[in-house]
Amino acid sequence: MRNLAGETGSLRADHARQRMVERLRGYGIRDEGVLAALGRVPRHRFVDEALASRAYDETALPIARQQTISQPFVVARMIELLRAGREMGKTLEIGAGCGYQAAVLSHVCKEVYSVERIRQLLDRAKENLRELRLPNVRLKHADGTLGLLEAAPFDTIIVAAAAATVPPELKQQLALGGRLLIPLGGGEQWLVMVERHGGGFRETRLDAVRFVPMLSGTE
Ligand code: SAH
Repeated sequence: MRNLAGETGSLRADHARQRMVERLRGYGIRDEGVLAALGRVPRHRFVDEALASRAYDETALPIARQQTISQPFVVARMIELLRAGREMGKTLEIGAGCGYQAAVLSHVCKEVYSVERIRQLLDRAKENLRELRLPNVRLKHADGTLGLLEAAPFDTIIVAAAAATVPPELKQQLALGGRLLIPLGGGEQWLVMVERHGGGFRETRLDAVRFVPMLSGTE
């Protein structure tokens, strides 16, 4: 009986996930690689059981320690912007949270390094990801304002928490031709794309967004 219930539950989750992908298409996400990646990750397994029925809704959900898992559209939009139809190569994520976005990234990147400053969240993310067996994702307990020097340079960097300004270490750890996408601001926030060229950096302001703040240090 339990097996059947489990299978029925996972079938329902598969349908909910497919509906989520169709909704994202309707919202204008065009990159089929990104849509396929979101279609492969069981988002309900990254949130508390009590919230699992809302896992595929278009909403941010609480994880722990006052942090949130970003809404599906924001995850899809940010990855689509960063990919811009090209290879994402070696990627750094700042703010692993529950590990959901790292799992999505694993399907469109060669390698994913994800850092999280709160150990409790990182341990949970590790558990969530272990079950999915994604060999190209590495998680690290660290302050992402410093980037991750040991694995630099990165082709793409995605930041899941809002900073006041772009941390200089992140720019320095971008490969030539690399791209960094970061929410900037306080009350009002904007996604900013930073691209590294031979001569320096180009910054472009994109969508209005709402993220938890980027904090320094670890806990
Ligand atoms: N991408 C996550 C959502 C993250 S919410 C997911 O899919 O679940 C933002 C996360 O950034 C929080 O977990 C917060 O603790 C973390 N964070 C904030 N500042 C940070 C920093 N300096 N270094 C690393 N992580 C940071």
